[in-house]
Amino acid sequence: MEHQAEPKWNLQHLYRGVDDPQLEKDLNQAQKCATAFRTRFHGNIAGETEAQELGAALSAYEAIHQQALKPMLYAQLLFSCDSRVAESAALLAQVREMGSRIEQETLFFDLELQKIPEEILATLLQSKVVKCYGHYLRQIRMQIPYACSEEVEQTLSRKNLSGRDGFVQLFDELTSSLSFSFTMPEESEERLCSGEELLSLLYHPEATLRERAFATFLEGHADLAIPLTACFNNLLLDHGQEAELRGYPELMTPTLIENETESAMVTQMMAVTEQNRPLAQRYFRLKKELLGLKSMKNSDLYAPLGSEGPRYPFTAALEKVREAFAVFSPSFVAMVDDLVTSGRVDVPARPGKSPGAYCMGMWPGEAPYVLLNHTGTLRDLSTLAHELGHAIHYQLAEGQQLLHYHPTLPLAETASVFGEMLLTRHMLDHEPKQELRIGLLCSKIEEIIATTFRQDMLTRFELAIHTRRGDGLLSPEAICDLWWEENAQLFGEAVSMIPAYRWGWAYISHFIHARFYCYSYVFGELLVLALFQRYREEGEAFIPLYEGLLKGGGGASPQTLLEPLGVNLSDPDFWQKGYDCLATLIDELEGLLVEKDH
Ligand SMILES: [Zn+2]
Repeated sequence: MEHQAEPKWNLQHLYRGVDDPQLEKDLNQAQKCATAFRTRFHGNIAGETEAQELGAALSAYEAIHQQALKPMLYAQLLFSCDSRVAESAALLAQVREMGSRIEQETLFFDLELQKIPEEILATLLQSKVVKCYGHYLRQIRMQIPYACSEEVEQTLSRKNLSGRDGFVQLFDELTSSLSFSFTMPEESEERLCSGEELLSLLYHPEATLRERAFATFLEGHADLAIPLTACFNNLLLDHGQEAELRGYPELMTPTLIENETESAMVTQMMAVTEQNRPLAQRYFRLKKELLGLKSMKNSDLYAPLGSEGPRYPFTAALEKVREAFAVFSPSFVAMVDDLVTSGRVDVPARPGKSPGAYCMGMWPGEAPYVLLNHTGTLRDLSTLAHELGHAIHYQLAEGQQLLHYHPTLPLAETASVFGEMLLTRHMLDHEPKQELRIGLLCSKIEEIIATTFRQDMLTRFELAIHTRRGDGLLSPEAICDLWWEENAQLFGEAVSMIPAYRWGWAYISHFIHARFYCYSYVFGELLVLALFQRYREEGEAFIPLYEGLLKGGGGASPQTLLEPLGVNLSDPDFWQKGYDCLATLIDELEGLLVEKDH
């Protein structure tokens, strides 16, 4: 009965179906508008533009995006519902082609925006019709100091195909081709297993099995030491050369620009993280005690703590999240209820449906869609709070225009992680069973450590290999040594690393796919913890400030949006607040363990 009642999406808000004539009409219209846009504005933006003209161009550009988004997002949502339906796959391919054609037609626009002389832009920005796009314009123009001539840019992007992109591709092919001989638990014979299967055993109750699985996984990567090291060496060199060519003051500059963060903020955040490492080590020692281990290895970090908790069928899970959000703001509950009753939440797992969970922000005025694969675990319950947090962020940001609607990366996980914190706090305050409270605290603390201390360690390692590559080719052993040193700093005396962990760097695809991405995890997580700590200290007074932050969407840089909250991202005290929040959770856990012993 319960299962049948689980809500699904109603995509009728968008189109009646794949053959809705409006869908075809919208697709054609978007392309026509893009062509007309090019005819009217190409070559007219960079020179002596009038404010009215630039304002008209910006709003036309936005309108094209708005027009194209509806069919594109509809196609993606439809495909997520069931990827086996041929018509859905065909529609998705069709809208992707359309998207790429529109992109080609309108590519000139950003380039011309970059060419407007600074003095002229300053004057243009005084006009209302341009000013409202101010943040978008500033963002586009951040790249100007590091741009090469058009010819060089074109040559670079052509040569990247066989250079940089080639090594990324090789890394993907190598790592995805790996399989491992292993006897899985409850199977009698060795067989070829995937990396995913082995890594899932880090959550197995048996310590020797966890270690064996992890070591097998790492040794498989060690066997590929030569080609994997070549991928790393070439990509590190490639970035070093690009930094030189473009004149980046720091290796992280392009990432900092993209994330609208400043070097000083990241430096402070990492310094504060370093100072707080004893906090992580304190937790590792508590976990060792909880597991009753003589020595704690890094293959034990995610070991389960005995019994599995209760199950949360969707109705019960939703009720828990509603209760947790209600403590904070009744308007959050109203938004959640609207989403569920209007068919914006798709709950049950089923064949053909996209795996995992996501929240799809649509456009201002159109509520977001949330996809789940809810099976009733505690993890699913947190995911529900996470995705509904994202949805609330989009709902609150609906006053923004489309080009300022999506939050920038460092703020993208604010509402989702805050939502999870509200849920954890609510459950801790209301869970009568001590054992379950201990389990809740451990899983939250482990998640925080993985998103802060570990990601910080990855960033330090990445900086170290980039810097060392400047002095010449790195041997596999040299990379292993740097990796070992950075990890040893984090684990201290509290955790010993298994020997094969020397190769732990070799499978982290972020180093290959999204250079220096890892710091933004630390940034986002600590930011939320610091804000949550403020909420705990300030109570109700904090709520309108937080809502104001979410309403800002992507309309300004993180620092500007956080100004009304009195936050200074270059101030170490702000980042420390995040770790203070973690410390209160560890204190709480320690208190429970003392109680348990008496
Ligand atoms: Zn998220």
